[in-house]
This record gives sequence, structure tokens and C-alpha cells, in this order.
Amino acid sequence: MAKIHILDEHIANQIAAGEVVERPASVVKELVENAIDAGSTKIEVTIEEGGLQSIRVTDNGSGIEPDDCESAFYRHATSKITNGRDLFHITSLGFRGEALPSIASVSKIALTTSSKEDGLGRKLIIEGGNLLSNDDSAAPRGTEFVVKELFYNTPARLKYMKTIQTELGHISDYMYRIALSHPGIGITLRHNDNTLLQTVGNGDLLQVVAAIYGTQAAKAMLPIQAEDKDYSLQGYVSIPEWTRSNRNAISTFVNGRYIRNNGLNHAILRAYHTLLPINRYPLAILSLTMHPSIVDVNVHPAKLEVRFSKENELYPFVEQAIHAVLRQQVLIPQPVKHP
Ligand code: ADP
Ligand code: MG
Repeated sequence: MAKIHILDEHIANQIAAGEVVERPASVVKELVENAIDAGSTKIEVTIEEGGLQSIRVTDNGSGIEPDDCESAFYRHATSKITNGRDLFHITSLGFRGEALPSIASVSKIALTTSSKEDGLGRKLIIEGGNLLSNDDSAAPRGTEFVVKELFYNTPARLKYMKTIQTELGHISDYMYRIALSHPGIGITLRHNDNTLLQTVGNGDLLQVVAAIYGTQAAKAMLPIQAEDKDYSLQGYVSIPEWTRSNRNAISTFVNGRYIRNNGLNHAILRAYHTLLPINRYPLAILSLTMHPSIVDVNVHPAKLEVRFSKENELYPFVEQAIHAVLRQQVLIPQPVKHP
């Protein structure tokens, strides 16, 4: 007798959720990335109790068509790619069609959305992956997701959640990166009625740096701008005198996506060479732009890691671009300080 059977959609989603939805910050990440992909210019995130109680993400993007609202929660359902070839030319932050069904399977969701300016839209209520209602509703253009009681039906995962402060730390860390990579989007983060981050969205990256790291940090930044045949690099690095005790203030983005990459981090630190005191790290916000075909973003469900097909050209390019700017800065004589 055959023993192998295909798991039903519900269990499949819960298994996927294990990878995609690690903690409240993962929900924030997936919902905010969807808002960016929808062309939003304003995104508001309001969380309660570190996101364990409630996460609300409101955007003014394209909205979801009434007939698409239910299918948005199907597994591998996406409007962003259509065939295998598209995988080599990803220009959106999402493409796997996994986030909504995964989040929905481990929480209680309310979605309100409208794709038009007429004030009419849809509202869906989903609990533990089960659609409870899908009705016409008043709604401004854009989309709002409210995710409550994350992991309410997966007690083992819930037990692993850390303190509210730790979960909040992960969320604000991520929101900082989003604001830094998208200075043209007005981003707000609120926690239990406190505003933790607010950017105006006027495209000025230094204003975002000031909002996150303070005005002194913004004053200590040197602009970076470099180009070669495959890559263009833009952003800011701090003068060697402005350092921090951890690497957390090094943010690297590839085609608008926040990524973590040791090779890139090392290239940035090598550019400072002996200029940094031991165990001190610079503040760096660097955005790389390259053709989507030379970077593979389909490496990890959370898409935090990517693979570069020409890394032995990329890393020296980044190192030299930063080094050139730092060297110039060091050559300019600093005012002599008298005792
Ligand atoms: P993916 O982002 O990989 O396509 P998701 O499960 O995150 O998959 O979302 C499924 C689909 O729902 C998206 O492809 C998009 O069409 C729609 N969607 C989700 N969030 C939004 C939003 N904030 N605004 C407009 N459309 C959205
Ligand atoms: Mg998505």
C-alpha cells in the first residue's frame, strides 16, 4: 500500500511559515516589502507589544483588485513574476508568493484594500489560514493589513519569542534599513503610541541618517558615488573619526533590497584599512545597483542573502570607491588643535 501523500495546503503553509515568519519583524518585513512593491509613497507601521499583540501596516500604494484579494493568500500566488525566466530578472522585493499564506496560517489577519479612488474596496478576515469573510467595504486607495496574535496556533514557536524589547529591536532595525534604502518613501514606525521613526520621504538620505543616528552622525558622512561597467555604488560612509562599537551601522543594499554579505562588509572595512581604531566600525549606507541577472536573490526565503556572479570584481570595486574618498579626506589638513 502506498504510504506517500501530498500534504494539504493548510499544513504546507504552516511549514513554509516556519521559514518565512520567524518572528514579528519577519511579518513587518514582508508586509512593508509588499507596500513598496505596490509603489507606495507613504507607509505606516503601528505595532503593539513588540508585534506579538498586533502589527498594522498601512500604505497608499496600488491596492489589490477585489477579485485578487482571496488569491493573494494562496500559496505561490504572485503578481510579480510569471515564468521561470523572470527569476533571473527580479526587480521587485517579493516574488515567491509565500508571505501572505504563511503569515495568514499563523495569525489572525484583517485586510482592507482598494485599488481605486472612489472610496470603495474590500475587507477580508482570515484566522489561522481560514477565510472567515470577504466583503465590500469602505476603503481609501491603498492597503492595510492588521496582523494580530501572531503564532496563536503554534505554541512551540510562540514560546521562542523573546522579550517585547528584543522583538521591538528587530523591528526597528529592519525599519531603519527600509527608511535608509528608500529615502523617497515617508516611513513611520509607532510602538504602543510612541513614534520611533518618522521620515518625510523627500529623497534626502542625509535627513534619514539624521532621523536614525542623530544630526552629529549626518554631519560626519562623506558621499560615495562610483560607477564601472557592471555596478554603480551610491551612499555615505562616516569619516574615520566617527565610529561605533559594532558593525550594525553598516547597511548594504542591492537594487533597493537590504542584504547581509560578509564579502561586502569586509570590502568596506578594508577601505578604511588602518584608519579605524581597533574594534571600531564606521557608519555606512551603501546602495549598489546592478543588472538583476548578475545577482541571485533566490537563495534564502527571507532574501537577506544574495549571490553575486562576479564577486571578485565587485568587492575590489567597492573597496576602491570608498578608499578613494577616505584618502582624499585624510589628505585635507585638519585644523590644528592647540592645548
Ligand atoms: P509576493 O510579494 O512574493 O508576490 P505575497 O504573498 O507577499 O507574495 O503577496 C501576494 C500578492 O498580493 C502580491 O504579489 C501582490 O499582488 C498582492 N499584495 C500584497 N500586499 C500588497 C499591497 N500592500 N499592495 C498591493 N498588493 C499587494
Ligand atoms: Mg511579498
